[in-house]
Amino acid sequence: MDTHAILNIAYLIAAVTFMTGMKMLGSPKTARRGNQIAAVGMTIAILATIFLHDKQIDPLIYILIFAAIAVGTFIGWYIAVKVEMTKMPELVSFFNGMGGATAALIGLLEYTHNTDSAYKIAMIVAGLLIGSVSFSGSMIAWAKLNGSMRKPIRLPNYNIFNLIILIAALALAVFIVVQRPESPIYLYALFALALLYGVMFVIPIGGADMPVVISLLNSFTGLAAAFGGFLYDNMAMLTGGVLVGSAGTILTIAMTKAMNRSLTNVIFGAFGDTDLTGGEDGGTKGTVKSVTPSDAGILLNYANNVIIVPGYGLAVAQAQHAIHELEELLEKKGVNVKYAIHPVAGRMPGHMNVLLAEANVDYDKLVDMDDINPQFKNTDVVLVVGANDVVNPAAKKNPASPIYGMPILDVEDAKNIIVLKRSMKPGYAGIDNELFYNPKTSMLFGDAKDSITKIINEIKNM
Ligand code: NDP
Repeated sequence: MDTHAILNIAYLIAAVTFMTGMKMLGSPKTARRGNQIAAVGMTIAILATIFLHDKQIDPLIYILIFAAIAVGTFIGWYIAVKVEMTKMPELVSFFNGMGGATAALIGLLEYTHNTDSAYKIAMIVAGLLIGSVSFSGSMIAWAKLNGSMRKPIRLPNYNIFNLIILIAALALAVFIVVQRPESPIYLYALFALALLYGVMFVIPIGGADMPVVISLLNSFTGLAAAFGGFLYDNMAMLTGGVLVGSAGTILTIAMTKAMNRSLTNVIFGAFGDTDLTGGEDGGTKGTVKSVTPSDAGILLNYANNVIIVPGYGLAVAQAQHAIHELEELLEKKGVNVKYAIHPVAGRMPGHMNVLLAEANVDYDKLVDMDDINPQFKNTDVVLVVGANDVVNPAAKKNPASPIYGMPILDVEDAKNIIVLKRSMKPGYAGIDNELFYNPKTSMLFGDAKDSITKIINEIKNM
């Protein structure tokens, strides 16, 4: 068998492992193994690409390639091992940006010696354009997720400005493909325009819309990599890119549905000032009732049905093991406990599922928003653990609110609500929450892990 045939078999194996891995990522039970299987496939694809091709290569190139792989592997491994769970979403955004940057770099490097082929230049230009937008957009998303760029920045007429940049970039792209100029200067100009577009496209997007943008950027990176696959006639790269691109697109659609927003609305609709207060009366006034862990323990201990609503604060407090312990304790006492999972709770898609799976919470206990919402009215106690925006009634009641229209968990329907958080500070969207002033709500202030541990001790002593 010639090396080309072996190379194609290696790519086929890689493609199958990517698909299998992707399928297994669908459930927390199989996700870890799925990731490992796809990683093995990726290793096969990389090694096959390096060793199984016809061209003679200077041995120095092999040394450079493996040195680069070693440096990259070490940096990736070190960051992944060191990263705190709460910094995971921004890391994912950063890695996604690196994928986009790689696709753009391929374009910059391959341009000059491919100008004789319109097809190859088209692939190069498409990969560079999309990859650059994904890179700079992901860097802005990264800054927004780590809190260094919290507020959306809206320049006057930014939609028109963005449209002009986009049209200019597309026109330049078409010019390059049609004319295929020898000088790469036009490609550099396209690179700059695409980077600018990525920045300008993400900076106006407001807090609660970020999940949609992040998954959209994810699909961009996949698409950019797929163009690289066409360019090199590399089936593994093409399959990997198409899988990431389509998974990102499916996720984008799921996220827009979860936010009850259209994609065009997220991208172009974020103009005008929004009301950062929670209610129609211009604010969430009222009395806040604060309780002790002992009060919370009594309420939970004597309940029949309890629903736990986890949010970003669960990740910050690293309270997933403690909440699982509380759930098991209550179950032993005959209380029926479930978790209500909002699709955008936390800071990345599936954040709560990942956290709770880490603590070995039974997957059957996690109930999606649409299925759990009708159950709140028959619930004795809702325990809101570090969630805020996803339970904010302003999404239903205040048309001027930036989260207006986003479906929320209907915790107000329950008989009692206990909220675990450290202060009255708002969540990611930066808005007040009138739930905290609801007469049925009791606030238990403090770090969630700390509060849960105290509640557990109280219940054990009852
Ligand atoms: P929020 O960001 O709305 O609220 C989290 C709450 O947790 C805060 O109010 C904070 O209050 C509390 N908290 C923080 N640390 C602790 C702690 N140690 N102990 C107890 N409480 C703590 O989270 P939600 O999950 O409700 O909503 C997610 C938001 O993030 C949505 O607006 C969503 O659009 C956005 N988003 C989601 C992404 C995704 O893909 N899922 C991506 C990007 C953004 P306090 O400081 O008082 O303790």
